[in-house]
Amino acid sequence: LPGLYIVATPIGNLQDVSARAESTLRHADIIAVEDSRVTAKLLNHLGIKKQIIAYHDHVSEKARADLIARMGDQAVALVSDAGTPLISDPGFKLVREARTAGHLVTTIPGPCAAVAALTLVGLPTDRFLFAGFLPSKTKARTETIAELGAVRATLVFYESGPRLGKSLHALAETLGEREAAIAREISKKFEETVTGTLSELAARYADSPPKGEIVIIVSPPGSACAASPVDIDAALAEALTRLP
Ligand code: SAM
Repeated sequence: LPGLYIVATPIGNLQDVSARAESTLRHADIIAVEDSRVTAKLLNHLGIKKQIIAYHDHVSEKARADLIARMGDQAVALVSDAGTPLISDPGFKLVREARTAGHLVTTIPGPCAAVAALTLVGLPTDRFLFAGFLPSKTKARTETIAELGAVRATLVFYESGPRLGKSLHALAETLGEREAAIAREISKKFEETVTGTLSELAARYADSPPKGEIVIIVSPPGSACAASPVDIDAALAEALTRLP
């Protein structure tokens, strides 16, 4: 059927492509992609050859209008470099305008790094706020963190290796001692989860930026780190030495 198909693709492991994602890509007339080199890898893996056009939300109004017009009689699949389109990725304006034009808009759900990370790290998942990437300018970053700090929910951020130390430092400074975690390279060879307080994590990554892609998870306010039994023993032993 003609329309817009939002197709989630793997965030690392190519085997995570769903059967429905594969068949949608196979039957689409056009695949709109963020970066054709990245998508070519997936399409090669699936043995699919298709007309590919570049799309991001900053294309001209005319380019978007052209693509939307084609949805009248063609099936257009939107994919991003990894994971779910529109989640810190292009597509929002395309979906909005495709709906306004009255086209079919449907989704082929699948991997999303934010959700995958939440399932990995052992912090509360009943309420969470996805905050995307923190601003790179110091003032804007601090303001954003202060605003998010009041939200009674687990916070989820996207981050890159080189910026991780700075972001953790800023989070620790503004939010204090909250339990947190990073999930790195999910579904890839070097998948890793590291947990600790914000300041422990900030110290760990201050001078050693990790490689790869990262999700930062911060526990809600007030749930601050229940002391582990080992910590309590150590504190007790230390207190006893001070007794007269
Ligand atoms: N649309 C994607 C999704 O559904 O997750 C996110 C795209 S965003 C431009 C890229 C960011 O997602 C990375 O900087 C990283 O924070 C996160 N990410 C993507 N793949 C990841 C992975 N395999 N492991 C950890 N984080 C990942």
